[in-house]
Amino acid sequence: MTSTRVSPAAAVLTPGREVGVAVIGSGFAGLGLAIRLRQQGETDFLVLERGDDVGGTWRDNTYPGAACDVQSHLYSFSFAPNPDWPRTYSGQPEIQAYLRSTAERFGVYPHCVFGADVTDARWDDAARRWRITTTAGELSARVLVSAAGALADPVLPDIPGLGSFAGTVMHSARWNADHDLTGEQVAVIGTGASAIQIVPAIQPRVVGLAVYQRTPPWVIPRGDRPVRPAARRTYRRFPAVQRAVRGALYASREVLVVGLAKQRRFLKPVGKLARAHLDGQVRDLQLRAALTPDYTIGCKRILISNDYYPAVSAPNAELVTAGIAEVRPHSIVTRDGVERPTDTIVLATGFATTDLPIAHRITGRAGHTLAEAWAGGMVTNRGTAVAGFPNLFLLVGPNVGVGHTSMVYMIESQLNYVLDALATMDAEGLAVLETTPQAQADYRQLIADRSQGTVWLAGGCGSWYLDEHGHNTTLWPDFTFRFRALTRRLDRENYTGTPADAEVAA
Ligand SMILES: Cc1cc2nc3c(=O)[nH]c(=O)nc-3n(C[C@H](O)[C@H](O)[C@H](O)COP(=O)(O)OP(=O)(O)OC[C@H]3O[C@@H](n4cnc5c(N)ncnc54)[C@H](O)[C@@H]3O)c2cc1C
Repeated sequence: MTSTRVSPAAAVLTPGREVGVAVIGSGFAGLGLAIRLRQQGETDFLVLERGDDVGGTWRDNTYPGAACDVQSHLYSFSFAPNPDWPRTYSGQPEIQAYLRSTAERFGVYPHCVFGADVTDARWDDAARRWRITTTAGELSARVLVSAAGALADPVLPDIPGLGSFAGTVMHSARWNADHDLTGEQVAVIGTGASAIQIVPAIQPRVVGLAVYQRTPPWVIPRGDRPVRPAARRTYRRFPAVQRAVRGALYASREVLVVGLAKQRRFLKPVGKLARAHLDGQVRDLQLRAALTPDYTIGCKRILISNDYYPAVSAPNAELVTAGIAEVRPHSIVTRDGVERPTDTIVLATGFATTDLPIAHRITGRAGHTLAEAWAGGMVTNRGTAVAGFPNLFLLVGPNVGVGHTSMVYMIESQLNYVLDALATMDAEGLAVLETTPQAQADYRQLIADRSQGTVWLAGGCGSWYLDEHGHNTTLWPDFTFRFRALTRRLDRENYTGTPADAEVAA
């Protein structure tokens, strides 16, 4: 593939540069919007990306074993199906290659400005535009779309002494491929979705592996297998077959919502499956007990793996549950006083999800940042628009997350909404489109009502799904087809619009 990574657009970010739409981020969300805009023949937009390529999550998470945990036929754009997925759950290299080739195919690269970290975006009420500052220059835009990602900014744990560690420290999302772990004593801190992929991938190579666990995850088998060449040929010749497979996968996952969000008793069979998986793979009763969660399955993300339990059970591995007291230059000391020599620390400690970094960089009409506007909790209309922030749309904003199915489905729902908003602005000749505080309050209530009784609130676990007030501000708490229905079109009645020829208020 020819590389078009260095975009001509990069040279032209000046304060006088004006675009119709500026998109922050080129992961599945930003890229998806760029593709849909290109499909409509739109060219007046730029994608501002702090990294050096498209891909977001899949550009950044290059740790050993990185792969999706939703089947590739579903975890991909419906408008850009890939008949050539090599496995049912593809790995990071294949997903990143898919995103790159899709960007190429739809002519998105020339619209991308790489190395452009958006440090500030302010609404200019007089000009009715967003004034945007990036590390690659400045510009203004009629509409700003933030697709900066909810799992894009690594969180480093506040462990005493971590800064004094003399060995290598790396976060799972900032993997250093040049660092060879062979023969080392390695500590993996965290047992979430990334950790359970990393642990089996590195365990055979290291001398000693200590897995520091705070809360055990529920783990079910991973039905991963190669996609046979005949199946790939069929998908290529008959795209409808692949669409049918995608539909079946979607439906099979959506059934889980009945247990997660409606009737928790329907989670019992899933809990039994996870229990049997654990019992079947871990013989040591003490280790099995330490790996057994004490909360309802689904309260935290249900993980899938066939090799995590065997890896933590291996002779060179140890599950450490005592809690870390401090890190010393060459070791980690747990609260029970045990000191373990350590060469490398892998932080599989997740991301900033409820205090989104981008929210501190976007300033609305009243001079407040999004973070300030959200001091009492993140509120939006349909996870996408915020009162006081005209002509701003958020992709994968609050309450758009899902754990049971593909985020791409949610992203595509939001794309319909944003594109309809843009079409509405054009059709009505609007310079400004802004959602109302009432719409936001109503939507907050809808989320609160639908979150009642869900496993995320009532399942007996603390998780990154809830904010510091215990509110669900990250997950969509219902069937995803209901989110699709809510975002099919712009709810025009919940917006005020200012025509382009209206006088600017003094
Ligand atoms: C390891 C891992 C595995 C996952 N597996 C799955 C899965 O199997 N299924 C699933 O549904 N979801 C999965 N997810 C969730 C995944 O994040 C979403 O599916 C999806 O990739 C999110 O896309 P996005 O575009 O919203 O965000 P991202 O992919 O995070 O992209 C955001 C982009 O914005 C850029 N950016 C951020 N801030 C700025 C700024 N200030 N200026 C300029 N650019 C900026 C970032 O560099 C990044 O490129 C996984 C997440 C991780 C971390």
